[in-house]
Amino acid sequence: MDYDMPLYRPPSEGRSLIFQITLGCSWNRCLFCAMYKTKRYKVRPWEEIEKDIIEMAWLQPHARKIFLADGDVLSVDTEFLIRVLDLINEKFPQLERISSYAGPTNLMAKSLDELRAFHERGLDILYLGIETGNDELLKKICKGATGSEIIDGCRKAIDAGLRMSTIILLGLGGVEGSYAHAKDSARVVNAIDPQFLACLTLMLGPYAEIYEKKLMGGNFKMIDKKQTLVELRWFVEDLDLSNCRFGTEHASNYLPLNGDLPGDKEKILNLIDKALGNDHSRLLRPEWARGL
Ligand code: SF4
Repeated sequence: MDYDMPLYRPPSEGRSLIFQITLGCSWNRCLFCAMYKTKRYKVRPWEEIEKDIIEMAWLQPHARKIFLADGDVLSVDTEFLIRVLDLINEKFPQLERISSYAGPTNLMAKSLDELRAFHERGLDILYLGIETGNDELLKKICKGATGSEIIDGCRKAIDAGLRMSTIILLGLGGVEGSYAHAKDSARVVNAIDPQFLACLTLMLGPYAEIYEKKLMGGNFKMIDKKQTLVELRWFVEDLDLSNCRFGTEHASNYLPLNGDLPGDKEKILNLIDKALGNDHSRLLRPEWARGL
């Protein structure tokens, strides 16, 4: 099986067998995201997908976890995706779960019954970048949905039996928007009540200047290491979740943490405070190691 590169998957899908059902992202407009900018979105032909599944069923018949790529597999026609899921179930008898990325626009377009039909065929986890709960910022970054639309889409998926793995992007609001970004993001995450929640930190490398001056405009200024921790604290202190695995281990973050919410909330806040009190804390990832 050949992959159309670049190919992305969440870190937690590192041991999953990956099938590319679509190439690129049907939305592909978020300002901060360069993942699929080199690809034109398309649904791969059925014959190619079928060939990949049959070939890998022969090579890895005991696969238990399968990840469907690229950016937003739920963008495909419902009947088509059901056909894909049925074939995967037929060919991998030991399958435990199927997962994929999802965009808020996909979830808005699918009905509760459609999402249920996917779940009944093994689709279990959807990874979705909320990025921020702040509507002004969502509009600015061209996410294509408001906070309440993201809540409705994620709640619909959860009501259909799916588990949501959601992502908040620290630093997205810049210096001026940091507080509103943290507080509105916590409010939206609380309303979704996802099973998994991760924070990543905005990293733009050589594009930082273009992003600051041309794309975001106005007085947008990237936040520094200390402000990232302050923003993380503002966010975590407002979280009120029923049962969520929380993590900041992604390589973009300065402070790698994990725990279960609500149980570990105080422990997590204490660790953030400790890191805030000491610039050279051993809890912090050095700048050179970020993004590796
Ligand atoms: S929906 Fe996701 S993959 Fe698509 S452009 Fe936005 S962040 Fe990137």
